[in-house]
Amino acid sequence: ADQLAHLPPAIRDKVRDHPCFSEEAHQHYARMHVAVAPACNIQCHYCNRKYDCSNESRPGVVSELLTPEQAVRKVLAVGAHIPQLTVLGIAGPGDPLANPERTLATFRALSEQAPDIKLCLSTNGLALPGLVDAICAHNIDHVTITINCIDPDIGARIYPWIFWQHRRVTGRRAAEILIEQQQRGLEQLIARGVLVKVNSVMIPGVNDDHLKEVSRLVKAKGAFLHNVMPLIAEPEHGTFYGLMGQRGPTAEELRALQDACAGDMNMMRHCRQCRADAVGLLGEDRHQEFTLERIE
Ligand code: SF4
Ligand code: SF4
Repeated sequence: ADQLAHLPPAIRDKVRDHPCFSEEAHQHYARMHVAVAPACNIQCHYCNRKYDCSNESRPGVVSELLTPEQAVRKVLAVGAHIPQLTVLGIAGPGDPLANPERTLATFRALSEQAPDIKLCLSTNGLALPGLVDAICAHNIDHVTITINCIDPDIGARIYPWIFWQHRRVTGRRAAEILIEQQQRGLEQLIARGVLVKVNSVMIPGVNDDHLKEVSRLVKAKGAFLHNVMPLIAEPEHGTFYGLMGQRGPTAEELRALQDACAGDMNMMRHCRQCRADAVGLLGEDRHQEFTLERIE
């Protein structure tokens, strides 16, 4: 059966060729992430800034930070070695849209120098609404927004603060602003025809039940995938920094929530939570072959 049958044809075609979303495509096409974005504009309780943003990337990993120029050289070098390279993502090590100059400079250069490569980015969504035009000006194929809640009372337990209009905002108000920005950004991207995937981090006892509601809302607005990821609470990652003793979900709890959220939309269960500097076919990681030192 066609797993994508429920999607409109234009979206279905985009997804079918996508190494991250299509079970078939991920064996034939390669993806690569470049870590050009060091800063972040919010604080998630589960984040330890010593490591990459854990909203899209594998926790506990430190990626090689690149300048936009280095990133472009690296993409072109990898493209010469891995002809199946079709997708280039920016997912860290902080929030790509908290570093708009670096992220957009990378996209601008790549859309000129490697026009066949699809570009994507992931973001916590805070800065998204102001940057939708700039994002759409490049070859951006999809955007991943990490949405952990739509209720500011729950959000206040996940985000201690955000940095907003040159100030630090804390508590419920911070969560309220973040949620508004995420939802507005989601709606604007959908209206512009950009594929939107939503990631959620499942935090037992905090947002686990609530994520069903998140799933319904983002799907109703047009997100094509909702990807529920487990909180990985390993002491050595310092995760749940702000809430000591927080555990991650068991495999069963995760599966049950993914089933409950699936509905008529496929959940992406094969996302490998790649490193922010991952290179290669999905399930393979060749980032060590393509460090800056090796390609320069
Ligand atoms: Fe694809 Fe997930 Fe890896 Fe991103 S982290 S490239 S979505 S598999
Ligand atoms: Fe960390 Fe990413 Fe959250 Fe920023 S958005 S605090 S980098 S997990």
